[in-house]
Parts: sequence; structure tokens; C-alpha cells
Amino acid sequence: MFRRVLGVSILLVALAGDMPTQADEAKPSATKSSTPSLLQNQAGFRFMVGDLEVTALSDGSVPLECYGTLTNIERQKIEQLLDDANEKSPVETSINAFLIKDGTRVILIDTGSGDIFGPKMGGLLIPALAASGVQPDKVTDICITHVHSDHSGGLTRGGERLFKNAKVHIGKPDVDFFLNAANAEKSGYAKKFFDEAIKTVKPYADAGQIDAITRDGEIIPRIKATLIGGHTPGSTIYTVESKGQRIVFTGDIVHVAAVQLPHPDVTVVFDVDSKAALRNRTNHFKKWASERTLIAIPHLNYPGVGYLKADGEGYRWMPIAFSNRAND
Ligand SMILES: [Zn+2]
Repeated sequence: MFRRVLGVSILLVALAGDMPTQADEAKPSATKSSTPSLLQNQAGFRFMVGDLEVTALSDGSVPLECYGTLTNIERQKIEQLLDDANEKSPVETSINAFLIKDGTRVILIDTGSGDIFGPKMGGLLIPALAASGVQPDKVTDICITHVHSDHSGGLTRGGERLFKNAKVHIGKPDVDFFLNAANAEKSGYAKKFFDEAIKTVKPYADAGQIDAITRDGEIIPRIKATLIGGHTPGSTIYTVESKGQRIVFTGDIVHVAAVQLPHPDVTVVFDVDSKAALRNRTNHFKKWASERTLIAIPHLNYPGVGYLKADGEGYRWMPIAFSNRAND
């Protein structure tokens, strides 16, 4: 357990930019630099699910160091799988959040990382929302897949609530686990996560805005929550259905596609219960592939929306079709 905790801390420090990383090297220097900005156009990737408008929003991307993150696999195998996908560690990793408009409600699935990772590391959700014509006070509901900084960190800025009118839906086991700092010591899980949850989730609990989900079922018309646990105690997937069409927002069921799609048995140091996380991944991947379910994944390359197809012992990713034309 201690080795795991150390791994989590090291990775998060690297993500937060507190130690030199490849990302630091890539950062434009403070003085004049000819390095071009890599910021993408902030307008989101939009598509319809029945009569619901869904937009994938990019909160940015961060470098993810794979060797300290992936577990249940040899380093050499990681190297080989990344090379097969024309990638190497650290892997540039998207942070995707999603916006749903149903004509009445404005719903967010996750909030990105906010200011948790420091400057130039994620935290682009608010401009992405603005590009979709949404100000934070117009958001009516936020469905958090789990209480980790890159999903719930964007709830606040400088400790202040950004979404003053939203109901925040979170699996109750995550609320109970992360808002009680004593659980850090009890579980051996990195304390940083508890500190960040208290900074970003607790203000909403204090304001009475949290809907702690205790059982599977509809939380908003046409949006169903399923508590799956594993990665965190209250990890939740959200299934959205309209007019016979469906999309599932999976949360962190996979982090490094190049490795965990061909080998779903590969786990990550962030898993609170890696056995349950592995079981979730294998069971859900199988179901989603056989049912051809449209899924939306936070850390697959933006927009992170597509389908899984069974391929040998593992899976292949098939991105959603890109459509860019006016409706009739
Ligand atoms: Zn995540």
C-alpha cells in the first residue's frame, strides 16, 4: 500500500508541475519565445443523442507518466504497446468533460481540473463552456463521475464555488470517503486527494448543493446513475437515453488507451480498489462492445466519444463519426 501511495504522490507532483517534467521543457519560456501555442479552438465537439444536444468540452491535456501509473504490467510491455500506437511516455492525456442540453436543463458531466494542477495544466473548462454559450451560473446539474481532482477540481476557483445554481450529483461513497480526512490515514490512500476534495467539493456540501447518490436509478429525467465503485468507492457511470438512443459517460474506466484497450487487465495506481476496477473494466467493456454502446471517456483523446470493438483478448477504439454541417 505504501508503495502505491508513493506512486500516486509522485505522479500528481509531476502533473502539478512542482518538479521538472517533459511538460516544463515544452512550456514557452517567460521571455520571448517562438514556440507556437498549442491551444485548440475552444468550440466543442457537438452531436445529438435523440433530442439531447451533447457537447464534448476539452479541459486541456496533461502529460501522464505511464511507468509509475500503470500496474499489473511489465515496463517493457508498456514500452512496446505505446510504440505500437506511435506514442511514448509521458502520454499526452486529454481531460474531457461533457455538456448536455435538454431544452430545460444545462447539465455537465465532470468539471475538469480547475486550478488544481497549476498554470497551463488543464483548467480550460470555463472558456470551453463560454464558447458553447453557457455561463457557470446557468448550469443546473453537475454529474461527477468520481471525486478526483481532474473531474471535480473544476467545481471551484480559489476555493470559491463556480456553479452557484447547480445541483451536484456524486456517488455517496465518494462524498463519505473523500470529505473525511481521517480516511486518508485509515486507507493509506494519498492525502492529497482528500485535501483537494475538501477544497473543491466541501463548499457545495456546506451550501446544500450536493445530491449524494445512494442507489442506481434516474437522477434527472433521462439520466440514470449506476454506482460501480472500484477506481474510487463512489465511482458512478451515467447513462443518458433519448428517443431510443443512448450514451454512457464512463468516468475513469480506462486511462491509457494504447495499453488498457488491448490489455484491460492493466490497472492504475489511482485505483482505490484495483481488483474491483479491473472487474468493472472487463465486464463493462464486454457489454458495451457487444451492444455497440456509444460511450464517452474522460481521458481518451478528445472528444473521447466512440465505440469499443472486441479484438482478440482486448478491444479497439472506434471514434464517433465527425459531422460538420447544418441540420435540415
Ligand atoms: Zn481522471
